[in-house]
Amino acid sequence: MVHSTQDESSSAREILAQVWGFDDFRPLQEEAVGDVIAGRDSVVVLPTGGGKSLCYQVPALVRDGMAVVVSPLISLMKDQVDALQSNGVAAALVNSTQSEDQKRETAARIRRGEIRLLYLAPERLLSPRTLDFLTSIPISFFAIDEAHCVSNWGHDFRPEYRGLRVLKQRFPEASVHAFTATASERVREDIAEQLELRQPQMLVGSFDRPNLTYRMLRRDNALQQIMGVVEQHPGESGIVYCITRKEVEQTAAALAARGISTKPYHAGLDDVTRHANQEAFIREQVDVIVATVAFGMGIDKSNVRFVIHAGMPKSIEHYQQESGRAGRDGLASQCILLYSGGDLMTWKRILEMGDRSNFDEAMANVNAMAELCSGVQCRHAAIVNYFGQEFDVDNCNACDVCLGELDTVDDPITLSQKILSNVLRLQERFGVAYNVKVLTGSRDQKITRAGHDQLSTHNLLGNESAANVRTWIEQLVSQRFLQRTGEYNVLQLTPAGRELLHRRGTVTLTRAAPSSGGRSAKSPA
Ligand code: ADP
Repeated sequence: MVHSTQDESSSAREILAQVWGFDDFRPLQEEAVGDVIAGRDSVVVLPTGGGKSLCYQVPALVRDGMAVVVSPLISLMKDQVDALQSNGVAAALVNSTQSEDQKRETAARIRRGEIRLLYLAPERLLSPRTLDFLTSIPISFFAIDEAHCVSNWGHDFRPEYRGLRVLKQRFPEASVHAFTATASERVREDIAEQLELRQPQMLVGSFDRPNLTYRMLRRDNALQQIMGVVEQHPGESGIVYCITRKEVEQTAAALAARGISTKPYHAGLDDVTRHANQEAFIREQVDVIVATVAFGMGIDKSNVRFVIHAGMPKSIEHYQQESGRAGRDGLASQCILLYSGGDLMTWKRILEMGDRSNFDEAMANVNAMAELCSGVQCRHAAIVNYFGQEFDVDNCNACDVCLGELDTVDDPITLSQKILSNVLRLQERFGVAYNVKVLTGSRDQKITRAGHDQLSTHNLLGNESAANVRTWIEQLVSQRFLQRTGEYNVLQLTPAGRELLHRRGTVTLTRAAPSSGGRSAKSPA
């Protein structure tokens, strides 16, 4: 085992300056680098853009022997290896696209001790041939990138990651370091357990991204709302995330028709086109990439000025990662999320069609995301708190809540009482749409036949738009005064909802937000 010395940590700084030209480590990088140099197993959590790669690349040049980096994506490995090579670092990768000759050549260079960093996908590393080969090589440490893939609790479990637990057995002298942007404590603990790490150091970076301005807007006219943001950033790079491939195609076409330089990206495109579109974005030949979540993992483009979500992502982890692709250079950037209550139902349907074993867990993640959208707490605080961290800034000046852009209702309790009473009058047997109709005084046949036009709550909110009433019901759901239950998602009062009927409790309701992306991004003081 190698132990870190004063010399080694100062040589880490020198290497950072000489090889990368950076003056200083970012928060937590220095500690993470120190653990790797000292050979202490570790789990490092840094948000996307936090600078995880340097945490193992720098030590690879300090320690003796070769470092092995495990990474799930060929494209990501290739980008990192190219970047390292162009900085003069002897890095290599082995993957299935290479010829036998190329692989033999790399093996020979490794045997001669010429390679400092070797990048491998987990399945290749774990093949008996590779494992046998590597046991004959002095390995300094293993860095596991995207380490949450080892955990069932993470959002991207990959069975091939599970096998990585053999590393500690086969290479008892090498330290193992896990890196991820997923912060939940459960995932963190699980990573350490699955990889059989020995008394690992747990390093968790701050999840706040102060240079990002967050806005969560009700989606009314998505295209117009997207254009509103894009037009604030002429000639600048941005990403528009859509939930489905079809939406990607339609949105990209609509933006192109309005003169925006844009390309689509999703898993349904053939490899060549997809790759070309991605490259065009990275090389700034197009400004805006419209994509599904398939886009972005491992893409190092630091000057993305805006990320727009045309629909709600399925978890706050996803949102944090995807929105985190904006502003990696530290400059002010904006993240706009367009949502509607229907997004929650869309995710429910999608999840119901998939693997049901994780359904409850996945739905809890979707609900947390929906709550963030219709919530009225500072967005920076809400995100950071979700990841178990404190946020002690009074006014972040960088979200729609703190910028005072939400249009809050003056007497939310009375308004809530009206809505909750209506749910009770309807005997808790109807869904959102029906409740909206009764409250706004609809005389649909369905309503008159059922005699619901005779209820005392009929037309109680006749002066309000259906969109507002719908928003408030969703806000009451997300603040847990109402819940949707059963196959038909009928609305019912929760115990807190019953309390609120007696004016006990606090609630905040906002009107559907104005339809543009708002003012331009401000950077926090
Ligand atoms: P992550 O993998 O955590 O998402 P990366 O390792 O890709 O983040 O780093 C994000 C960006 O930050 C990269 O462009 C990288 O060059 C830059 N970066 C990382 N560390 C530093 C540093 N100490 N000083 C300046 N830039 C840095």
